[in-house]
Amino acid sequence: LIKIRDIRRNFPLGSETVYVLKGIDLDIEKGEYVAFMGPSGSGKSTLMNLLGCLDTPTSGTYILNNRDVSSMSDDELAEVRNTEIGFVFQTFNLLPRTTALDNVALPMVYAGASKSERHKRAEEVLKDVGLADRMDHKPNQLSGGQRQRVAVGRALVNKPSIILADEPTGNLDSKTSVEIMALFDEIHAAGNTVILVTHEEDIAAHAHRIIRLRDGVIESDERNR
Ligand code: ATP
Ligand code: MG
Repeated sequence: LIKIRDIRRNFPLGSETVYVLKGIDLDIEKGEYVAFMGPSGSGKSTLMNLLGCLDTPTSGTYILNNRDVSSMSDDELAEVRNTEIGFVFQTFNLLPRTTALDNVALPMVYAGASKSERHKRAEEVLKDVGLADRMDHKPNQLSGGQRQRVAVGRALVNKPSIILADEPTGNLDSKTSVEIMALFDEIHAAGNTVILVTHEEDIAAHAHRIIRLRDGVIESDERNR
């Protein structure tokens, strides 16, 4: 599903260059459940943004579903993001004035679905994430865990090939984190490829493979159970 070869990502900073990813090789198969760990600043979010086609590498190749996404135009990338990728952020990133239903339905607008199709599918997804009774609530009328469920629903709505989550429990208390991880476990069990970043060993333990980054390189890559 994912094949990455010698990916590097540098950022210009004034007259200097910051070398963040320093040569990453990575293969991830369909249906894997992967957790990235590593110290703050090791490049986890930079790598997730590349995996999610929110950013492109300075050099190296990224093959996603047999397509070279590292050499695509912005328009092509936007299409890949919309059809292949579901991204969940630490801070939820929901539209504040928009109901749970419309937040979840939004990616389908770009996919060209009709309003009735969008609502039907968004209702189905909100039921799957446990929010059947919260469809018409706006983000500020929901708890943190419920907001993250909406964000997970939005990530799932277009049936992407990969679900990416950058510290999805980073803003949640431990009880709510356990509930959100149970949801990711279910999503994985349903056949999805799930890739997340976390600082917590207990969260990473849900994954079947744990990859540790240090200073822009992969330090270890181990099966978990
Ligand atoms: P955390 O655990 O704190 O979220 P992280 O592993 O996700 O850390 P990244 O956000 O990937 O770390 O950042 C890695 C390094 O890259 C940091 O030193 C950061 O300052 C640098 N960096 C990231 N984005 C940019 C940018 N746009 N311009 C310059 N430097 C950047
Ligand atoms: Mg980060």
